[in-house]
Amino acid sequence: MRKIEEKAARAFTERFGEAPEMVASAPGRVNLIGEYTDFNGGFVLPCAIDRRIAAAVGLAPDGEGVLFSADFDEERSPGADPDGTWADYPRGVAWAMSRKGAEVPAFRAAFAGNVPLGSGLSSSAAIEAATALALDALLGLGTSKKDLALLCQKAENDFVGVPSGIMDQYASLLSSAGSALLIDCRSLDDEPVLLDLEGANLTLLVCDTRVERGLADTGYRDRRETCEDAARALGVQELRDASEKDLDRLTGDELKRARHVVRENARVLEAVRALRKGDFAAFGRLMYDSHLSLRDDFEVSTPELDAFVEAAREAGAPGARLTGAGFGGCAVALVAGAEAEALADFVRRKFQKEDFEEPAFYRFRPAAGAEVSGRLS
Ligand code: ADP
Ligand code: MG
Repeated sequence: MRKIEEKAARAFTERFGEAPEMVASAPGRVNLIGEYTDFNGGFVLPCAIDRRIAAAVGLAPDGEGVLFSADFDEERSPGADPDGTWADYPRGVAWAMSRKGAEVPAFRAAFAGNVPLGSGLSSSAAIEAATALALDALLGLGTSKKDLALLCQKAENDFVGVPSGIMDQYASLLSSAGSALLIDCRSLDDEPVLLDLEGANLTLLVCDTRVERGLADTGYRDRRETCEDAARALGVQELRDASEKDLDRLTGDELKRARHVVRENARVLEAVRALRKGDFAAFGRLMYDSHLSLRDDFEVSTPELDAFVEAAREAGAPGARLTGAGFGGCAVALVAGAEAEALADFVRRKFQKEDFEEPAFYRFRPAAGAEVSGRLS
């Protein structure tokens, strides 16, 4: 059992006076390339990170369900309506399971995790996926991981109320260790892509700029609408169906946003080809290109994200880009393992000089998706 799974199991035992029946855990994720392509029916390439949330579960003998968070040291009721707390994620999963026709009896659950929360590394999908897999195993439902991912997305969209795409839940449930996950957001097909960073002495360095994503909501909605307008102007169903040549028929913001989407989709497929050849230099260049496109055409970068990417370039890192929705949040660099620490120090000093918030850094390796760690009794 992983340490975090042991922690959740221990929290369950201490809280409820008996061992859990089932423990599962699921990772957060970082998107390597393919930004703002999901709602245009395009491609994304995330990978699961080696930070997870674990859920230890068991049936409630007295019919009184309880959710307990070891990290927040807090108990909540699983059957309650959404109240804007962490408990909405596991509640939403149980709700979505019942809506799909499963009989979900009263259960108890304890959670422990180490996915940085609210940083854009999708701790929310991690807690959903861990809950879904643990409950599915506890109840012996045998749902496929793909269906569990869709169910978690439903929980996040319709119970928690966050209109997210499918990337986070797919990455958390369907990733395999040492691989990235290519997702076709239209067909919902997925495919592992070998990402042997260790073999190439590379690592992923994520910089959380700690900038509140203040404009994120309106900025996101604006761009989504402009993409839909552009698709309509071109007479295609989604920008996924537009080509480089179609761009000649657009102007202004529609041109800029569509150009990003069309080229970003092409970059994702190109990036997959590069990884298949083990060509990390080409992969990294595509990351830099993606960043410039997000900065200049999609206009979702910030001075902090740009500073990180520039620093990575100056330090000779093969690739770097903002990751997630932008407007703050995180950037990711592909960097030689031995140089990650120096890059982080360099960026810290640079941020200090610019009077930016102090950033947080994380090193990740591509990790396994959600797993049940076993029936315990
Ligand atoms: P992100 O998914 O980018 O991390 P979100 O705002 O979507 O950010 O999700 C963060 C929320 O997920 C937290 O506010 C909390 O409610 C829940 N969460 C994250 N980690 C944990 C944890 N270890 N235990 C319980 N809830 C958690
Ligand atoms: Mg989230």
